[in-house]
Amino acid sequence: MQTVQRDTFWMISFDYKIAMYVFGAIAIAIFVYGFYRRFRLWRKGVKEKVSWNDVKTNFQFFYKTAVEQKKIKRDRLFGFMHRFTSYGFVILFIGTVLVVVDYDFKIPLLQGNFYLIYELVLDVFGVLFLIGLLLAMVVRARKSRSRLRNRIADQAFLLLLFLIGIGGYIIEGIRLSETQISHAVWSPVGYGLAGLFQGNPLFGAEAYPIWWLSHALLAFMLIAIIPYTKLFHFLTAPINILFQPVKRTGKVGTPYNLEEMTEEERYESMRIQGVNKVTDFTGWQLLSTDACTECGRCDSQCPAHNSGKPLAPRSIVMKIRDNMHENQEISSFISPEELQSCTTCGACVEACPVSINHIDLILSMRRGLIQNQVMEEEAEKTLVKLEEQHNIFGKPWSDREDWSKGLNVPVLESKKKKTEKKKEGA
Ligand code: SF4
Ligand code: SF4
Repeated sequence: MQTVQRDTFWMISFDYKIAMYVFGAIAIAIFVYGFYRRFRLWRKGVKEKVSWNDVKTNFQFFYKTAVEQKKIKRDRLFGFMHRFTSYGFVILFIGTVLVVVDYDFKIPLLQGNFYLIYELVLDVFGVLFLIGLLLAMVVRARKSRSRLRNRIADQAFLLLLFLIGIGGYIIEGIRLSETQISHAVWSPVGYGLAGLFQGNPLFGAEAYPIWWLSHALLAFMLIAIIPYTKLFHFLTAPINILFQPVKRTGKVGTPYNLEEMTEEERYESMRIQGVNKVTDFTGWQLLSTDACTECGRCDSQCPAHNSGKPLAPRSIVMKIRDNMHENQEISSFISPEELQSCTTCGACVEACPVSINHIDLILSMRRGLIQNQVMEEEAEKTLVKLEEQHNIFGKPWSDREDWSKGLNVPVLESKKKKTEKKKEGA
């Protein structure tokens, strides 16, 4: 009776094995260097402690956002596409790790029933992975989502992933066709291909090592480019979603306590830190920009962007990300007009599938503008009127409700008046 186990290097010569390990080591070294490059930049940001007071909330949020992909699901087609691709990718990645553990670490995992289930699961998720990628390529080719930027690089990334997926099935099909093992049905796709490959020299035992090496090289290429491209979000998006403090949409982060600031003796001593250079952002804020997938959901929901104002939240995030290594003055790549156009409505934060907080980024930079006394003329005049007359129209304080006359605007009663009325009634 045949032993049910994985024959990892079937038909692979010593030279090919060495080539695989050498290319694998090079790819991992390039990946680690790329990751370290970005990690060093995040570390240059202001230190911000991650609060683990509310671990449960963070994990619940992670589950909804990264696992269930609730935000991405709002677009049905994209929801299927992204879940198929990401679930498929994660399962195939875990499958590859298990092979390394089984073969290189000599921990025999891939045998018996576990191996059969492993083969089945990988085959099924591999199909989902390919369907997801095909959908993504069609959507991009047909330009059916105007928010997406149709760059050649984006199609090339999808094609690379697709070729890796297809390559996996081809080598599986050839192996099953040549070995005729009894448990081949546990790999339904490979089994089907094995039937098609029978007698075809292009998919025969002799061609197998070439297919095998090309599959490995494409996978190594993917590993190497991840930290240098937007594919880096495979790693940074889950980290960002898990560690960013969970905020109710619209809640604005304040690096100071307003109540404390209004106590006169403390007012002078407290300094509001605005962002003028990239390193004035916190490390977590810098990391969050590396999580951007450039999906454009933020732009499509932004009222300022949609009404022709010079603001695109996606560009804000991408400009910070792309200028991180140079630590330039923010003013050299983001204009005051862009920052001042934001209404802080929170639509972008609500739409962002990787939990980037555009409002916090924009407000931090606006504080920097104020530190440098760059202010919108209208806003400056309004603040002066508010300070001097306690009325934004510059009229006496007692006339501050005049604008609402005849408009039937409900007026909130002050707490003091309410209490007085209650006392009179009692
Ligand atoms: S918070 Fe600002 S950037 Fe975000 S959607 Fe609203 S206006 Fe646009
Ligand atoms: S910031 Fe978020 S919503 Fe905007 S493009 Fe990047 S990932 Fe998409």
